[in-house]
Parts: sequence; structure tokens; C-alpha cells
Amino acid sequence: MIQGKFLINGDWVEGSSRFESINPATEQTIGWAYEGTQEEIRTAISAARVALPGWQALAIEDRAAILKRAVDVTNSRYGEPGQSTPLKTLIHQEMGKMLPEADVEVLEASDMLAFFAARGPQVLAESTLQLDQELWPTKESLLRFEPLGVVALIKPWNYPFELPIWSLGAALVAGNTVVFKPSEITPLVGLEIGTIFLEAGLPPGVLNIVTGSGTTGSYLVQADGVDMISFTGGVQTGVKVASECAKRIRRVSLELGGKDPAIVLEDADLELAANGLVWGGFGNAGQVCTAVERAYIHESVADRFVDLVVSKTESLRLGVDIAPLASRWHLEKVERHVADAVAKGATVLAGGKRPEEFATGFWYSPTVLIDVDHSMDIMTEETFGPVLPIVRYKDWLEAVELANGSCYGLGASVWTSDPVRGKRMADELEAGMIWINDVNLPYPQCPWGGVKCSGIGMELSDFGILNFTRVKHINLDSGNDTTREWWYPYKS
Ligand code: NDP
Repeated sequence: MIQGKFLINGDWVEGSSRFESINPATEQTIGWAYEGTQEEIRTAISAARVALPGWQALAIEDRAAILKRAVDVTNSRYGEPGQSTPLKTLIHQEMGKMLPEADVEVLEASDMLAFFAARGPQVLAESTLQLDQELWPTKESLLRFEPLGVVALIKPWNYPFELPIWSLGAALVAGNTVVFKPSEITPLVGLEIGTIFLEAGLPPGVLNIVTGSGTTGSYLVQADGVDMISFTGGVQTGVKVASECAKRIRRVSLELGGKDPAIVLEDADLELAANGLVWGGFGNAGQVCTAVERAYIHESVADRFVDLVVSKTESLRLGVDIAPLASRWHLEKVERHVADAVAKGATVLAGGKRPEEFATGFWYSPTVLIDVDHSMDIMTEETFGPVLPIVRYKDWLEAVELANGSCYGLGASVWTSDPVRGKRMADELEAGMIWINDVNLPYPQCPWGGVKCSGIGMELSDFGILNFTRVKHINLDSGNDTTREWWYPYKS
């Protein structure tokens, strides 16, 4: 059994009360973590504040070198593709995702860290702003990116290793120190991140990790001494976090939920689209912020497409291709959404229930629904489970209207064999990220973030690094004049 401890100021520290971490596939205990109190949160923030001047004073190349060492440590814990190392096994056991999904998660995390290490020094280099030399011959303007200070990371459980690392890599290279609160569903994976950075030589106090529930998270949000909150999670929690930040005029970045549409145009390669939507809907048991949660299919190809999707769905193996839900609460939410849809007229073509072969664990069969519409929760609220509701549309305008008919705007996918039409559809969609003939694919170089109620701010890419900085403009006059034309005295 693992006993997770807080990481505060470079030491592993015991707390006063602890909670269980369970394997959602079996409901067996895999370990314990401590519930962070207000006092422990304050201690962690103090450690981060004390470490801040030293970390900021390091040359950015030296900070990047520590990140590169963290990449090496991560790679050593990744091992070989497909190999079940202790890190991948822990992600699999604590969060529930399948081993190949844990494999990709670690690989992507390492890729993202390597990007921040390589790109940070270039993006954050001081630069000179071009002024109008005729107007301002003696002036020079410099642009600097400074760290914000102590950054609090509050992150979810669905990518318990990769998502904190997206934010952590950018925050650290920019010179911030960090207090991180992982989800109570995946505290032990969160703490593993601490072991990696300690092994990489991160100085004490630069990264502190306090495990606990939402209450621990709220202590962090309400505490003094935090300069920015980088939050990833649901909209409702995001609103609470943003409200607390508003009271303090504190920087906040919100990566929130989604209800991503997939639009299959009449000229799509149906085999590709069906494979893409089945993976996009059911990968990680649908617990992906950019999972396909709504499928809109042109009516001329809908029958063929639905047949393909149903037969591919029926061939999926629970426990091999399909993971359990991460908690009983999430399982029950999926059941509520499907029951609501069925009560309002939806037809279940595959799944639609817990599988009988599993006596324990939070399993739900991959589910395909038709006869669905926007009066149903399954089409409007984030389900975060292995359910693919399919709607037929008549024409382009209707597809755009349906896809945009959501308060969410995280991602979207378009399936077509005509790149011009694909890009034209992308222009019309209200979403932060649009994949044409693919789905749910993060690249370190490309920005990640949503519009509408899916959030504010960006992760990954140069924008993700700049997200953790404040801009300083320095203006220098090197002329010999003792006054300026626009100073006193005014011409009368
Ligand atoms: P939650 O909003 O429930 O929780 C997110 C984090 O906030 C957890 O660490 C949680 O702790 C903590 N928390 C809960 N209540 C509070 C509070 N009052 N104050 C401060 N922190 C609090 O989301 P989930 O963990 O269920 O994650 C799933 C959601 O995350 C989905 O909506 C998904 O779409 C979204 N997401 C968005 C991504 C994006 O890039 N836009 C990426 C991945 C997920 P605890 O878990 O211990 O309760």
C-alpha cells in the first residue's frame, strides 16, 4: 500500500487525517493520501514564497536545464513503448485508464516538458519594441516577461500526470514557484510528479504538493500569498475559483469542460470518421475534456455511418479498450444522462447499461444513442462518459447551428474529404480548437484552450508560457534635452 505525503519545502511531510485512493476497476484500496488543512496550505505557500527570489534569480537557461533533467527522469519512468512501468501502472490503477492510454499520457507529458525547456528561453527573451524613429529618435523601449510569483495549480483526475505537467513546465520555466493540489481521485499520481522534479534537482520549495479534497482546493484559492490560479476542471468549480480571484484582482486561468461536436460532412471518408468518433467518444471512457460528446451526421450518409459506428462499438472490449469510470459519482452521472435521454425518446443502439460481467468497479458499456435532440441533458451538459449521441442534419446551416448551440466551446472536429470545406466549417464553429479529420490531439507547439464557458486562457504553445508571466515595458530616453515639448509651461 502506498502512503502519500505532502511535498513541502523539499520534504515529505505527514498530515493529520487521510483518505483512501481506490482502483475504480476493482474498488480496492491502493493507498492513502493526506487531506490538506488550511494550515498546511499556508505552510506550502510560505515555502513557495521563500523559494521565489532564488528561483527567479536563476538564469532562465538554468531553470530550463532542470526541466530537461525532469524530461530525462520522466523518460526513464516511461521505459519502452507499451512497457508497464510503475508510473504507468499507478496511473492505470488510480485513475482507471487503460495501460496504452497511460502510456500515451506519460509520453505526451515528457514531450510537453521538453517543449517548455527548449522554447521558454526563446519566448521569454527580452526584446526591443520598434518605435517611430522620426517621432522618438532618442527613445528605446524594452519588453520583459516577468514571473507572476507563487502560482497555485488545481488540476483534475482525468489526465492526472499530463495536465499538471502542462501547467507546471510553463510556470517553472517562466520563474514562478508552485503549490499544486491534485484531485482527491488521483492524489498518488500527483505526488509522483513531485518525486520526478526532486530527482531532477528542483530546489526545495519551488514545487509544493498538498493533496486533499475540494475543501483543500478552496483553502488554496482563498489564501493570501498566491499570485495566480491555474485551474483545470468543471465549469461550476471554475466559477467559484474565478469569483474568489475576482475579489482579489488575482490572475486566473480556466481550462474548463466541453461538449465537443463532431460534424461529419456528406463527403467524409466514413470509415475514417467512424473510427475517429468511436475512439474520440470512448477513449479514456469518454473522460476527456475534448471527447466527442455530440455527433452530427449529414442525413445522406447517416444510415451507413450509424451501422459502422454500432458494429465498431460492439467489438470494443471492456478492460482492454474501454476503461471504467473514475468514480461511482461519475458512473451515476452517466446513467442519469442516458436515462434522461431514453425517457425523452432516445433509442439505445449499443450499450446503455452497466456490463453484467463486472461485479465490482465503475464500469459502463460504450453506448450509442440515436433519436436525440437538444432537449436532453446528454446533448447539453458535459456527460464525461462513454456515450456517443448521434443526430442527423439536413444541411450546412443546420449543422453549424446545432454545433454552436451549446454554452461550451472547447474543441470540435470536422470530417470531410475536402480540405477547403473543412476549413470553411472551422471558420464557422465557436470553439478554441478544431481538428479536421482527427480529434482530441494536443501538440506542445499549438495552443490549447476554449471559448464561451469552456474557459479563459491558454495552455501549451508560446501562449501557454506567456500565460504565466506579466509584461513589463521599460522606456529609456538617452537624449540631452532638459525638458520635453509637452511638459510645462504650456503654450497659451
Ligand atoms: P472539478 O471541477 O470537480 O475539480 C477540479 C479540481 O478542483 C480538483 O482538484 C478538485 O478537487 C478541485 N476543487 C473542487 N472544488 C473546489 C473548490 N471549491 N475550490 C477549489 N478547488 C476545488 O473537475 P473534475 O476533477 O471532475 O474534472 C473534470 C472536469 O475537468 C471536466 O469538466 C473536464 O472537461 C474538465 N477538464 C478540462 C480540460 C481542459 O483542458 N479544458 C482538461 C481536462 C479536464 P477534488 O477532485 O479533490 O474535488
